[in-house]
This record gives sequence, C-alpha cells and structure tokens, in this order.
Amino acid sequence: MSTLTSNLRATIGNKARWFWLALALCALLALPHLLPGKYLLQLVNLGLVSLIVVLGLNYITGYCGQINFGQAAFWGIGAYVTALATLNGLSFWLAIPLAALATGLCSLLLGVPTLKLRAYYLAMATIAFGEIVQLVLVHWESVTGGTSGLRGVPGVSIAGYALTESLQHYYFLLAWCALALGLALRVRSSKLGRAMVALRDSEIAAEAAGVDTVKVKMLAFAMSSMYAGVAGGLYVSTINYVSPDLFSNAQAVLFFTMLVVGGTGSAVGAVIGTGVLTALPELLRFLKEWYLVLYGVGVILMIVFLPEGIASLGQRWRKRWPRQRVAVEAGDAAVATAPVLAAAAPTAAAAAATGTEALLQVHEVTQRFGGLVALDGVSLNVQRGTVHAVIGPNGSGKTTFLNVLSGAYTPQAGSVRLLGQELLGRRPSAIAMVGLSRTFQNIRLYKSLSVLENVMVGAACRHRGGLWGIFAESKKQRAEELALRAAAQEALLAVGLADMAQRPASSLAYAQQRLLEIARALATQPQLLLLDEPAAGMNPQEAAMLMQTIRGLRDQGITVIFVEHNVKLVMGVSDRVTVFDFGRKIAEGTPSEVQRSPEVIAAYLGRARAEVSHA
Ligand code: ADP
Ligand code: MG
Repeated sequence: MSTLTSNLRATIGNKARWFWLALALCALLALPHLLPGKYLLQLVNLGLVSLIVVLGLNYITGYCGQINFGQAAFWGIGAYVTALATLNGLSFWLAIPLAALATGLCSLLLGVPTLKLRAYYLAMATIAFGEIVQLVLVHWESVTGGTSGLRGVPGVSIAGYALTESLQHYYFLLAWCALALGLALRVRSSKLGRAMVALRDSEIAAEAAGVDTVKVKMLAFAMSSMYAGVAGGLYVSTINYVSPDLFSNAQAVLFFTMLVVGGTGSAVGAVIGTGVLTALPELLRFLKEWYLVLYGVGVILMIVFLPEGIASLGQRWRKRWPRQRVAVEAGDAAVATAPVLAAAAPTAAAAAATGTEALLQVHEVTQRFGGLVALDGVSLNVQRGTVHAVIGPNGSGKTTFLNVLSGAYTPQAGSVRLLGQELLGRRPSAIAMVGLSRTFQNIRLYKSLSVLENVMVGAACRHRGGLWGIFAESKKQRAEELALRAAAQEALLAVGLADMAQRPASSLAYAQQRLLEIARALATQPQLLLLDEPAAGMNPQEAAMLMQTIRGLRDQGITVIFVEHNVKLVMGVSDRVTVFDFGRKIAEGTPSEVQRSPEVIAAYLGRARAEVSHA
C-alpha cells in the first residue's frame, strides 16, 4: 500500500515538474515577442551569453569553492579567437571548438601551478591574468585592432541558413544555454559533481575518501574557462563586433556577483543571479545617475540578507512546507549485489609481495613539528584481519601517527608499507586507492551533501567511469550511479544509518556523524581502516554498539587500527594494543599483556585504573 501511494506521489511530483518545465519553456519561447523594442532583446541576448559564462564559473567557484576572477578574460579570449578565426575564413562551427581549446589551454597554464596551493592563489593569479589579457587586447594592435577592436566579424549560419536577426540569435543562444545548463546539472548529479562539492566542504576528507582533489579542481577550472570561451565565441558571432572594454576585471567581478547573488553552488542560482543582475540596471534606469547607487546598495543588501543566494529561498520554502519526500526508492537496497564491505581484493602483485608479511609495516617513523618530536622512531606491524588499538595520553602522537599513515603528513624519516607498497610520499587519495581509509578525530563531513551522497563519494574510488559518460549520461554511467548508490546503501546499513540516507549530513546527531564517517571510509573498500577516537561523544550503549561493529568489520576481513581513550572499550575489542607516550611506542602486546606492563601503568593505565576504581 505504501509503495502504491509513494508511486502515486512520485508520478504526481513528476507531472508537476513537467508542467512547470513546459510552462517555463513556453514563457522563454514567447519572451522575445513580448519585449517592446529591439534594444531589450539585445540585452536579453547578452544576458544569455553571460549566463553561459556564469554557469561555467559555477563549476570552479560554486561547486569547488575556489575563487576565480578570470572569467571575463576567458570570455575575451574566446571572443577574439573566434573573431580572428572567422575573419580568416574559418567556419563558426570550427572556430568555437578552437575558442574552447584556447581557453582550456590557458586554464591549464594558470591552474596547474596555483590549484595545488590554497584557494586564494587562484584568485590572485586570475586577477593578474585578467590585467594581462586586457593589456594584450589593447596594445597588440596589429592583431586585435587595439581599442577600436575588430569589425565585420562573420555571423553564424546553420546548414547554409544565416542567422542575422536578434530574434534568431535569441533562439540560437537559448539552445546553447539549455546545453550549458543541462551539462552543469548532469555533472552535479554525478560522482564528479559530488567530488567537487566534497572538496569544497572538506578538502582533507575528500582526499581521504580517494578524491584526487587537484585533478578535480583542474577539471572544474578547465570547464569553467571553456564555458567562458564558447560564450565569447557566441557573443562576437552574434554582434559581429568585438572590442576590449567588455573583458575587464570589472566585468569579471560582475560575473562573480551574479553567481553569488543567485547562489553559489547551484546551477539554478547561476540562472537567477544572471537574470536579476542583467535586468536590474534596466529596471533602475529611470533613476538616472542614482541608479548605480541603488544597484550597489541592492546587491549588498542581497548578499547580507541572503548570503546563500536567491536560490536558497527555494530550500527555505521547502523546509518550512515540507512535502512528504518521495519514498527513498525502496528497490535501492535490493540493487546491492556486490559484496561492498568485503575489502577490495589486493592486486596479484601486492598479494605476492605480502606473502606471510604483515599487512602494514611501519618502520622507524619520525615526525617533527619544528622542535617538537611528535613521533620518535615508531615501528609497528599490523597483521591482516586484526583489530589493533593505539592508546596513550593526550598529545602522545596517536593522531599524528594516523595522519602519517594516511598521507596527511609526510614524516622526516621512516617508511610505511601497506601490502608491500611504500605509502610515504603519496597523496592521501592515492593511498586510499591502495586500500587505506580513515575517519577523523574532529569530524569532517561534506556538510552540503546528503548522508547517502557523502558515502557515494567514498564508493566512487572503486569505479572508473569517465567524463564522457557523465556528459552523455551513457547507459554505463547510469549503471555506475546505481552501483554507487547500492554500495553506499550497504555501507550505511553496516553502521546502522540506512534509514537516514536522504537526510542532509549536517542534520545528524554527533554519534551518527561519526558512524557516517565510518560508512564513507568503508565505501572505499579498504584493506585497512583507521578510526580516530570513533567512540568520542558517544554514550555507553552507542560505544558498545560501535565495538560490535568494529568486530564485525574484522570478521569480514577488514583490518582495523583505532585510537581510543576509553581503556575498557579497547580491552574488550582489540587483538593487539600499542601504547604511545611522548611520541614513542612504550609497549605493545595483547590487551592483558599491556595491562600488566609496569611502564604502561606508570604512563597511562595507572591513572585510568585509579579513575575506574574510584568510580
Ligand atoms: P594525540 O592524538 O595522541 O592526542 P597528536 O598526535 O594530536 O596527539 O599530537 C601530538 C603532538 O604533536 C602534540 O604535541 C601536538 O600539539 C603536535 N602536533 C600535532 N599536529 C601538529 C601540527 N600539524 N603542527 C604542529 N604540531 C602538531
Ligand atoms: Mg588525537
């Protein structure tokens, strides 16, 4: 019965969506006929070109959270490349790919050195780039025509039919906008889009879940730039003229403002912001010289009172008037076929290399921070299929140890081998691919993604579907999405969060957030799972459940290293225990051996025992 009603509801929901889409389409098709005068139509056309630029900006700035002020320069490069190419006899349809290629290459030149660094390096590099492009356009007169620009740029013709009227340009540009928007929405609902948002929310946690953040940022930046390049080509080919003044840094700031006002991180926001900021100057024109003041104040007010952008109003509305969510596709869990939680099979070479060796071999690792020695020549072997606890007083180097294993820190000396492969010097995402995954002591979730999507980010590291599949939404890509979903559902089931799948990750209680981190790590199919104080903030029942879960994971063949404060928990669940004090390993053995070690009692357990016996 409930499936019937939910099906019904889904059908109605779909019908409503189609109704609104059809209405919007009719309005868009009718719009040019409702506008009084050609000037406004040309303005709308410029708005459509801007929309493509802003939709592009949304990839790197909206989805990835990296500030890019180069969008006007890329727009300009696209415009001039297309103008020069078509003036020299090349067809528009060949000039556009050329413009995309030119802007794509420029983005590589700018992105490769800056995107590895912190977010603001890209901002600075793109501002400088904008200035340089402007200077070149103005001063390289023999090619660009200097300040007077290039005239008589050939227009577009489709199969011999020339587009000469603004009305024709409108429909032509509208089709390009639909393509640009469709692509942006597809990317957002794919593993690539999830990876972009994940790295915006937590770059460290995205890397740990196997996301190659540098590659994803580079891709987003290239796509941003190519959108702008294509928009530039469309612009010159519809107005048949180009001059440098439109491609200034002021224009770049305007594009940026359009995205921020509409709502960064959503393609729909880009549409709204571009629409509002294109129309506003016209609507306020009757104010004469006062209009700029009002326009400025209006933008500031919008940013202050709607920091998430106009698009966020929709979300607020939905929160206030929640529609019963279309039942989480009941069939989803049933799709799960692959044994997701079993550790990824080690490669043949790795298996041969390990033989009877320990799964993890840590040798003489030393990590210094300035004068502080956080890890002092630590060596440790962990056997496959065991639960290994790391305990020690606060500041003894436990988290640092996990950070070294997972690639977050590179120690000054030592070696770390997993499955016979050296891990030191690799990026965290590469280490995740080898088969090591982790959770964090201070929780790092992707706040703007749902619980399910958080885990799907982890699952994606075992799937190899490419970019074209995402753009074309191929059959293979859809099957991969289903597989990722199933894998994520299963990981959620393993930690007891299956019925939370559709909730925003940020809405979970603290203990659940820790479980979600474990599910995300499990979805990468690790050989070795590192948990940093997984029971912190949990009540005794929750902690006991967690220990059951950890034991269950070991029984499925996953090796676990976990850091814990609660000595009782450690003793119950672990096969071996290592004790740290001041960055040194002071004891190691079975729980009972460690409990008897006088050194350990002196350094740590003595205190804890005393506390326990008092309690
Ligand atoms: P634990 O997890 O055992 O409580 P940590 O590994 O977090 O301890 O810290 C060990 C020591 O290393 C502490 O003194 C801490 O201040 C220091 N430390 C850890 N990370 C850094 C860092 N990134 N920079 C400087 N000092 C650090
Ligand atoms: Mg710690």
